[in-house]
Amino acid sequence: MEHLVRSCYKQGGYVFAKKADEIVRDYRIDRIARLASNENPEPPSSLAIAAAEEALRHANRYPDERVDILTDALRGRFGTYHFVTGVGMDGVIETLIRTLVEPGESVAISTPTFSFYGLSAVAQGAKIINVPRKKDFAVDPKKLIKVGKTAKITVICSPNNPTGNATPVEVVEEVLQGISGVLFLDNAYIEFSDYDYLPLLKTYDNLIIGRTFSKVHSLAGLRIGYAFVPEWIVPFYQRASTPFTVNMVSAAAAAGAIRDQDHMTRYIVQVKRWRKRFADKVKFPVLPSDANFMMIDISPHTSDEVVEKLSQQGVIVRSCRGFAGLPDHYIRVSIGEDWENDRFVNAINQL
Ligand code: PMP
Repeated sequence: MEHLVRSCYKQGGYVFAKKADEIVRDYRIDRIARLASNENPEPPSSLAIAAAEEALRHANRYPDERVDILTDALRGRFGTYHFVTGVGMDGVIETLIRTLVEPGESVAISTPTFSFYGLSAVAQGAKIINVPRKKDFAVDPKKLIKVGKTAKITVICSPNNPTGNATPVEVVEEVLQGISGVLFLDNAYIEFSDYDYLPLLKTYDNLIIGRTFSKVHSLAGLRIGYAFVPEWIVPFYQRASTPFTVNMVSAAAAAGAIRDQDHMTRYIVQVKRWRKRFADKVKFPVLPSDANFMMIDISPHTSDEVVEKLSQQGVIVRSCRGFAGLPDHYIRVSIGEDWENDRFVNAINQL
């Protein structure tokens, strides 16, 4: 019966990191350094946990479809912006593409970058146009604008996954002015950088800025994302969204988490400290990063070979082989707890 499946799902798909329990089983190592998915290693804020526990008591009812508890908290933190929410930023991306892109229309993506924009656009019947970054992985605004003149959505990830570099505000503004559709600016890792793109929202009504609770806020397991959007899109996004998308436990936890600045700051301090240490201690070239992960050039080795060797030593990192447009000699390592980072440095320097 497999012939019934749509051709876009016959191969490919999202690449998941190796599971910690597989390594425990395969190599009999009981404590694994989990540095493949750019999560905050600290458990969620106690404010998030308390709010989630309380919300769970009311889970016999459907959640508030407008997710006011969360959008109110976001307004409390950032000011009077318009927001949409979703099941992770992945859910937001998926719904935005569903809202805007007709089958056959194009989506321009500055690559190499996070894979889900492309996967989601293809599933929507869109045409993907990958626009290569420059040699140093900086966005090429001229090339992106050329394609963005006909694309419905143009995508820039900043700081970029997996390369780690952020795009200057002026370059983002140049792209916003040159394209004819919407710019989706993925800010999943923005809290680890010193960049601020929010002022652009006041001027440009074709800018959408995606964010997530999966990284600095320690809530990856609850799948919650949001975006700063222009007001015009809100009713259409809601129409395109699955009803009751964001569950009440996740919404409450996120509203609690965004109020806990100390929890965020602890990890941001850790990230900034270790970006420098990785650059100093790792014997391979480490690319400068504005995020909570770093990309490392492990040539003459290849990505999968290094990922396998590190996992034998109880360290999970991400192979960059699957990132379109990237040569096969990079790995991406997240910044975790001290013992995890130390173990990674020891393991990689033994190669
Ligand atoms: N954007 C980027 C750049 C990411 O790296 C990720 C997750 N790895 C996401 C979006 C998706 O985040 P979420 O967990 O909120 O779906």
